[in-house]
Amino acid sequence: MKNMHDNIVEINNLEVEIISPDGLLKAVRGLSLNVRRGETHGIVGESGCGKSVMVKSIMRLHDESKVAYSGNIFVNNKNIMDLKIRNMRKLRGKEMAMIFQNPMTSLSPIMTVGEQILEVLTAKSNISKDEAKKRSLEILEKVGITPGERRYKQYPFELSGGLLQRVMIAMSMVNNPELLIADEPTTALDVTIQAQILDLMKSVQKSTGVSIIFITHDLGVIAEMCDRVSIMYAGKIVESGNILDIFDHPAHPYTKALFESKPKGSDRAERMLTIPGAPPSLYDDIPGCSFALRCKYACPKCHSTSPKKIELDKEHWASCHFSREFFEKKELLHDE
Ligand code: SF4
Repeated sequence: MKNMHDNIVEINNLEVEIISPDGLLKAVRGLSLNVRRGETHGIVGESGCGKSVMVKSIMRLHDESKVAYSGNIFVNNKNIMDLKIRNMRKLRGKEMAMIFQNPMTSLSPIMTVGEQILEVLTAKSNISKDEAKKRSLEILEKVGITPGERRYKQYPFELSGGLLQRVMIAMSMVNNPELLIADEPTTALDVTIQAQILDLMKSVQKSTGVSIIFITHDLGVIAEMCDRVSIMYAGKIVESGNILDIFDHPAHPYTKALFESKPKGSDRAERMLTIPGAPPSLYDDIPGCSFALRCKYACPKCHSTSPKKIELDKEHWASCHFSREFFEKKELLHDE
């Protein structure tokens, strides 16, 4: 644990299995990830690759009667796998907070947005109601929901999607958490509003120093927001590194395929990733490399042997038998 102090999050060999009506979903399969203090770390991958399951595991938000974990998740040097759920609840909001794609699922329709911010504030700190109201109004103004006094009294249904996401950011930051997890926070918004929310998140990070895990399938958003990025496929991180290295020297064929699929249009549907073929079912065991059935470089070894993590540079690794060759932009010697 010596080198953990620079990491706000350190995940080691995490496996998450969820009991679902369709059987046992092995959603996360030996995943390791480090998130540095103060950075924005992007997680990118197609729908169903386990991104949301992974971040909900960091918050321990799964139904505990239907989930089995193995491995470790350290947040702020605490192994949250060892914590009782009641202790986890104390950490949520205070040390770590999360915002989702659809704010309406996290907001009560029968309370005003101001009351909801005030409730989050008073639940985690011993301040008077008057002080909490003052702080709630301040944070509304700070995230651009103005005039604060009028907005405080409005119900969620009276606000647009962009304003609701601002409310969520206000609620998540009101207790000054050290880690903010943003799960596709702008996917449901149109491009102009998306840009405003991204600007807001950048300014919140600048003023508070909060570490952010930013989940998206949009590589443009990753490039704009993140210091480092991890590429996720079939329940694992398959490549990780700083933004420049990954964009300039992608070393996993899945990462390369994501770049090749990067859409040029601004329409939301066009921004979805499209790579030929489908990911493997996470209900099944996957022999060899999980990307083999879609990979244009696959050879017999890929179908039988799971690739190991290959360190490519100080900050950059990938799990493909041929990562070194891709990183160095060499021709592969085997027949494709
Ligand atoms: Fe493709 Fe083989 Fe690399 Fe997997 S290990 S990504 S199948 S080349």
